[in-house]
Amino acid sequence: MVKAILIEKPEETQSAALKDIDLPDLAEGEVAVDVAYSTMNYKDALAITGAGPVVRSFPMVPGIDCSGIVATSKHPDFAKGDRVVLNGWGVGEKHWGGLAERAHLKGEWLVKLPDGISLRQAMAIGTAGYTAMLCVMALEAHGVTPESGEIVVTGATGGVGSVAIALLGKLGYKVAAVTGRPEEEDYLKRLGASSIVPREDVSGKPRPLNKERWAGAVDVVGGEVLANVLSMMAYRGTVAACGLAGSMNLPTSVAPFILRGVTLAGVDSVMCPIEDRVEAWRRLAADLDMEKLAAMEMEVALDEVIATAPKFLDGKVRGRIVVPVA
Ligand code: NDP
Repeated sequence: MVKAILIEKPEETQSAALKDIDLPDLAEGEVAVDVAYSTMNYKDALAITGAGPVVRSFPMVPGIDCSGIVATSKHPDFAKGDRVVLNGWGVGEKHWGGLAERAHLKGEWLVKLPDGISLRQAMAIGTAGYTAMLCVMALEAHGVTPESGEIVVTGATGGVGSVAIALLGKLGYKVAAVTGRPEEEDYLKRLGASSIVPREDVSGKPRPLNKERWAGAVDVVGGEVLANVLSMMAYRGTVAACGLAGSMNLPTSVAPFILRGVTLAGVDSVMCPIEDRVEAWRRLAADLDMEKLAAMEMEVALDEVIATAPKFLDGKVRGRIVVPVA
């Protein structure tokens, strides 16, 4: 028996509770991981509250992320004692996830944690931080450099936003942080933002084109915010879009693309190929200031996770949450 959060939906409404559960037998190709830390992302909050259609089958152990030590392995690439990290692949959605003392995971999903990142730091980073790294890599792949000009990060005080600012700051970029929480200016500047942009500046009905402001963008909000950001991109700028914290819609026009050569680069962490994940974790070990990571993390015990979930959806969580499990 292992302790785990379990989401059940016997009838119309779902419920979540911390329970003792039996894991299914370890299948061929799977690895049993003793979970040391898990975390909470926006998606986990959607799953636990049922506010979004994240969970595909019930009962479900949520948790799209975990870090831990291999206990037993039926996959040739992993052996007892390996330090591993898991992000996405539908875990916590259709395969039992990381908010549990032990997880049975496919070996092909796991990344061996690079030296220089502890099991705890891996979950302070989590899917949010690894996605922030993928966004930075997308900007780089499209030729955006610190010399290109300022980069705007939306949803700045959230998980993806906070890590993106810390990464970009360390890499030498000038970063403008869009936030609806002006009281967090000091926090954002400590992470590496050079200027704060009130959310209202990029809200409301977007014009097809606006004054050119930014060479690159990391957007976690979608909707009118993303449409406004697109209209403010400098010639040949690139927007890495990964989120929908504001809206799933995109009320834009083709003007930024055909008149300014702007690139809209989609970023997905869930099915991202393993080579890109290994590279993203290597880059996180090299390019993320671990003191800044510590400044953005908050600890939530496994038995507090369910009560914390609604705060995410109300935009009341700042930075990253670490859930110690072992
Ligand atoms: P958080 O909740 O930590 O951060 C989201 C931030 O967005 C908030 O802190 C807030 O920042 C801002 N925000 C929230 N609601 C609104 C709104 N209505 N309008 C404008 N801004 C808003 O979430 P994460 O950082 O973990 O994730 C951010 C988004 O990225 C989510 O939509 C998530 O699903 C998505 N995501 C996608 C991934 C992928 O693979 N594509 C992977 C990881 C995340 P502030 O108060 O500073 O304005």
